Amino acid sequence: MKNLSDYRKIVGDKVISEIYKRARKLYGRRILQINSTYLGGGVAEILNSLAPLMNDVGIDAGWRIIRGTPDLFSITKKFHNALQGDPINLTEIKKKLYIQSNEDFSMYTHINHDCVIINDPQPLPLIQFYKKRQPWIWRCHVDLSNPNEILWEFLKGFILRYDIVIVSNKKYQKEDLPLEQRIFHPVIDPLTPKNMDISNKDTLKYLKKFGVKIDKPLITQISRFDKWKDPEGVIEVFKLVKEKIDCRLVLCGSMAHDDPEGIKIYQKVSQKVDNLIKKGDVLLITSENNILVNALQRSSSVILQKSIKEGFGLTVTEALWKETPVVASNVGGIPLQIEDGENGFLADPYDKKGFADRIIEILKYPDLAKEFGKRGKELVKNNFLITRLLSDYLNLLNDLLK
Ligand code: UDP
Repeated sequence: MKNLSDYRKIVGDKVISEIYKRARKLYGRRILQINSTYLGGGVAEILNSLAPLMNDVGIDAGWRIIRGTPDLFSITKKFHNALQGDPINLTEIKKKLYIQSNEDFSMYTHINHDCVIINDPQPLPLIQFYKKRQPWIWRCHVDLSNPNEILWEFLKGFILRYDIVIVSNKKYQKEDLPLEQRIFHPVIDPLTPKNMDISNKDTLKYLKKFGVKIDKPLITQISRFDKWKDPEGVIEVFKLVKEKIDCRLVLCGSMAHDDPEGIKIYQKVSQKVDNLIKKGDVLLITSENNILVNALQRSSSVILQKSIKEGFGLTVTEALWKETPVVASNVGGIPLQIEDGENGFLADPYDKKGFADRIIEILKYPDLAKEFGKRGKELVKNNFLITRLLSDYLNLLNDLLK
């Protein structure tokens, strides 16, 4: 059972007491979160921790997952890509299926709550199928800095019905949206199996179980197999690093239920590195094991996040929390977490040599790696832990449900 007081030893009594205070006017209020997957990706990760904690402080917080056919998730993945700037062929069929799936779900999903929080585009049209009796919040985790205009216009038709929009970064606030837009930076939960402290013995046990060798420095990227995470680019960077320093690469990516592109991209990557896999230089992992992710983030010499677009990048937060040095793209939410040269390195996602040089620097200078690690953990502790997000939501709910 998740319990807010368990976090005292990490964030201190003042933070915890402040949260209890903020929850006082919200006892028994019914809040509903809806998203499209319970597993895989950052949103599921956050809701897994947030929903129980909201209940622990006295709110009746529910969490439901919108059901959909593979067709729906194939369309909404195209929407996701287009919101991040890709072109889209927005046909009437796609629009219809998207709206129809939401209507179908609404038929057997009764909402009598005091506030509804809709996460990302998949369940966005739901609002249209209810008599609106409470505030509705649209929480968008996607990088909205440069959305495809046609799609944005279409989605705006639903968004305008909402009371408030939450985005992950100041850069994603939209001038053409005449609604209040708050910024909630995403967070990690330090007490989950993915982020909790684990012993060296357990770390080694899990690495061994999944065939990860640590006889050479390990470079790792943990990300869904998604073109925005640029796994193919990671391999190119790895080859450049390996010319200078012998090392191994792990690409670890579980398959999210709402991301049908994962398997195709995984296959493409695995064909591309077939010979490196056979040599043992590269390891691809598709397990959903959180302790393995934890062990990889702890034991890698460098964690990479070579995204082309990145809403926030929880994988960066997770690595910083474990004091592991990170080299990541200077895009989306990543610069909120890494100050170049201070607690990690930033690089242009298209500059493979730049990425490789920075990895090499970390591999060569362990003292620098240590320093980055310490500062990284402090930054996460002060800004990006679940207790902060819980506070943000309590403030918002207090404002909306006065
Ligand atoms: N993740 C995981 N296993 C994997 C790949 C990713 O558990 O094989 C988790 C990762 O640890 C992080 C989340 O999925 O908590 C990804 O969040 P992020 O913000 O980095 O990217 P998103 O997938 O939301 O685009």
